Amino acid sequence: MTPADPFLSRIDAALEQRAASHLLRQRTSVRRLPKARIEVDGKQYHHFCSNDYLGLAEHPQVLNAWQQGLVQHGGGSGASPLVTGHHHAHAQLESTLCQWLGFEQALLFSSGFAANQAVLLALLDNGDLLLQDRLNHASLQEAGSLGDATMKRFRHNDLTHLETLLRNNADNAPTLVVTEGVFSMDGDCAPLAEIQHLCQAHNAWLMVDDAHGLGVLGRHGKGSCDAAGIQPDLLIVTFGKALGGSGAAVLCKKPIADYLLQRARHLIYSTALPPAQADAVSAAIEVIKSDPKPYAYISELKARFLAKLDNEIPVAASDSPILPLIVGSSEAAVMLSDKLKDAGFWVSAIRPPTVPKGSARLRITLSASHSNTQVDALADAINALWHSLPLKECQ
Ligand code: PMP
Repeated sequence: MTPADPFLSRIDAALEQRAASHLLRQRTSVRRLPKARIEVDGKQYHHFCSNDYLGLAEHPQVLNAWQQGLVQHGGGSGASPLVTGHHHAHAQLESTLCQWLGFEQALLFSSGFAANQAVLLALLDNGDLLLQDRLNHASLQEAGSLGDATMKRFRHNDLTHLETLLRNNADNAPTLVVTEGVFSMDGDCAPLAEIQHLCQAHNAWLMVDDAHGLGVLGRHGKGSCDAAGIQPDLLIVTFGKALGGSGAAVLCKKPIADYLLQRARHLIYSTALPPAQADAVSAAIEVIKSDPKPYAYISELKARFLAKLDNEIPVAASDSPILPLIVGSSEAAVMLSDKLKDAGFWVSAIRPPTVPKGSARLRITLSASHSNTQVDALADAINALWHSLPLKECQ
């Protein structure tokens, strides 16, 4: 008898266990349709879980920039930025970002995940202190665990806890505080002005990951830091959300960027973004700067949706287009999500470990591509299902 394959046995057991706990992750092959709709297995759905908050992934100016960029520069960038992958289009985008957001230098990365990991791993050494909000994105948490600095996590948006951790830094270890601007799973903002004040008082640097704030908060969409009136030491912006593309950048002072260029492995050893993509992101920024209507419209949609939803439905307070409907157990969240799909709405269930245990949720995102009719219909569907499904029995 051949011995059992140890990898496969472990893999099978883990998959079975995830399925039994309603935690099995699966992908769906989706076809994008106009007006915030998608097609899956031949059925059309209203789409309420995209991060394309402004609908820029289908904006004619952005698509035109992609097309022109492809004609001018071809497909891929051909190399990492330090070899020959840093094209004129990348330099142009970096300069646009710096002018828009008021920084000396920007460095592009192929994703926000890579940017977060690269910056923390490149910047922090043994003996340094990294203080992170407990609800920061997985890329930040994981970089903190992988790196040499001592990592401590403060309770979500808890300034008193952060201050205690800063005070406890008796050895005056060089300290970096990291928070998201808008929290991705809750949609609430960090108290950035207060956090920066604490950082300044304790000689710590502040890094803000504004993946979900850029484009939708601040003056002309400049993001959470602009809305809070601060400038962090390091700002991470991503292009896969409101900017309608993909990729990311870190913005900072020039010597920091020069240093990161020596050490940020996800940049040094990875193929640069397609240059046409850089042109598309530059075009998206121009659209955001010139047209404030989309984010005013999202605020109206949000007010309309919340007003239509029954009072007892637990949508947590949010400062952004992200509306978390906290269901509780994973089983109940999956049940509600599945029933919404039956009714023609695609809203994914988000379960632990992405969110804390017992707080599985539907992460509803609104976008400038939604119509009033779509938002009203979703609220009606949730109201009806909330009362008819045995959600409480799954807790
Ligand atoms: N930071 C936050 C707060 C995010 O929500 C995400 C994406 N979910 C990322 C970083 C990673 O960005 P990207 O998708 O570009 O890798």
